[in-house]
Amino acid sequence: MAADPKQGKEQTLGLIKPNAYSKRADIIGLIKKDGFTIAEQKEVTLTRNQVENFYAEHRGKKFYDELCTFMTSGPTIALLLEKADAIKEWRRVMGPTSVETAKKEAPNSIRALYGENVTKNAAHGSDSPESAKREVGFFFHVEDTYAMIKPNAVSHKDAI
Ligand code: UDP
Repeated sequence: MAADPKQGKEQTLGLIKPNAYSKRADIIGLIKKDGFTIAEQKEVTLTRNQVENFYAEHRGKKFYDELCTFMTSGPTIALLLEKADAIKEWRRVMGPTSVETAKKEAPNSIRALYGENVTKNAAHGSDSPESAKREVGFFFHVEDTYAMIKPNAVSHKDAI
């Protein structure tokens, strides 16, 4: 679903979380070195309401409140990432959710290098085509990105 038919590439949402904001240049360097194209980039300090919506699937879990407080604590960098198999690739480059596990199993991953603990784990990445679609849409206006049928040059409004 998240493939761009024009380029054979997939898109995913990457976030550099507030604890890693000061390392954003290093992280963006790693992302480019790993062959991703950054199609769009946005810096945003999320409100409580925005974070609660973004992480709605975790509402009620014991870490939810701490996660929401952390995610509103400073600026976040949102990245629209493109690459073949971008969703899986970005999850691989980020490393496991737990920084402790990341340090053991993926010492060169972003979370191992820039994460502090399981909450302040430096990065976010969509985990499926469905979540990529929802999460990219949360930050960027890309209505037609996922459409297999592109609109004609004549817009619907002009045609009626
Ligand atoms: N999180 C946390 N404690 C946990 C599990 C997750 O604080 O025990 C936070 C962490 O920042 C994580 C986010 O909640 O990145 C979303 O959790 P998820 O299980 O979806 O992990 P992810 O997809 O980010 O690896």
